[in-house]
Amino acid sequence: MGSAHPVAVQSMTNTDTADVTATVAQVTELACVGSELVRVTVSNDASALAIREITSQLADQGVSVPIIGDFHYNGHLLLTKYPDCAAALAKYRINPGNVGQKRRDENFSTIIRVALEHDKPVRIGVNWGSLDQNLLTDLMDENARRAEPADARDVMLNAMVESAMRSARLAEEVGLPHDRIVLSAKMSQVQDLVAVYRKLAVLSDYPLHLGLTEAGLGAKGIVASSAGLAILLQEGIGDTIRVSVTPAPGGDRSEEVRVAQHVLQALGLRSFLPQVSACPGCGRTTSTFFQEMAERIQCYLRDQMPSWRHSYPGVEQLRVAVMGCVVNGPGESKHADIGISLPGSTEEPRAPVYIDGSLSVTLKGDRIVDEFLEILNGYVDEKYGRTSCSVE
Ligand code: SF4
Repeated sequence: MGSAHPVAVQSMTNTDTADVTATVAQVTELACVGSELVRVTVSNDASALAIREITSQLADQGVSVPIIGDFHYNGHLLLTKYPDCAAALAKYRINPGNVGQKRRDENFSTIIRVALEHDKPVRIGVNWGSLDQNLLTDLMDENARRAEPADARDVMLNAMVESAMRSARLAEEVGLPHDRIVLSAKMSQVQDLVAVYRKLAVLSDYPLHLGLTEAGLGAKGIVASSAGLAILLQEGIGDTIRVSVTPAPGGDRSEEVRVAQHVLQALGLRSFLPQVSACPGCGRTTSTFFQEMAERIQCYLRDQMPSWRHSYPGVEQLRVAVMGCVVNGPGESKHADIGISLPGSTEEPRAPVYIDGSLSVTLKGDRIVDEFLEILNGYVDEKYGRTSCSVE
């Protein structure tokens, strides 16, 4: 993590960690989709006791994703009381605003000593919703005494940064090596997030974990997270990311992993999935056939990836175009590795397929989608299968 390593995707479970079966299942699901780090809540004795069994079952299933323990209020107690938990976790996340008021530094230092004992890294994760109130009050008072006080928002942003930096200094004073520390300072508003991380990036060289906290539901959460992450990642800020979208009741937790992957892929930082370029459709498209086809192809590619990733190295860079008519269809298709241009509402019922920039075949009839998927499979096998053989 950090330095020249690619930006990693992190996610977090929402199961009761004490429910080993449910937590193992969700971690496995998140890891299968591509989460490279998974954080779990460790909030009480039962969840701390469950950690060893969770990591053991994951290992038995061949799931090697690092498990990070998320501690608030009682991390110093749980990590000392349950050394098996401390040993099994790959990293501890400490929120400096939630380690106690009177004994803040003492409790924080206890966690750092456990990390040293077990040779673990620590993420100092400041959060706007639980910012150290003593520190904020001190900085507000100091600001009020100035001849020209700064804006209250600026003071709050500085308090976020100061909380992270002070905690990092304390961790190093206790003995934690500099390269075992990760910082985060999550905010719930995009502009605040960007401002805080820019300050952190100037002041330190610790790896930074990015994420918009409490991003929200559905499109709002996805768009706000993507906007904040994209600005920072484009500036070279950020080493791990998490998209904190709220799933709908009974919704798919792994959606947050897919969104994070899409953000990194859209920025050209990493490739995870073959990209489907589809036009938005307009009055020239025929009924819903075009949308259904684009969706079928997108889902097909996504479903194949767990096995394709191993069988066809490099397939995540495949570019597929699904276009609605001849206006932009052939042009876009030619720029993709493989593309299809469906007939618009006033066009002949023919669908030209382009492969590597050249017209390959024109499909007709009721089996256009099935035939296109067969052509797609053949293309993937021919282009990426040979690479697989030579690697193996
Ligand atoms: S490619 Fe054709 S169907 Fe798609 S948006 Fe453009 S004009 Fe409309």
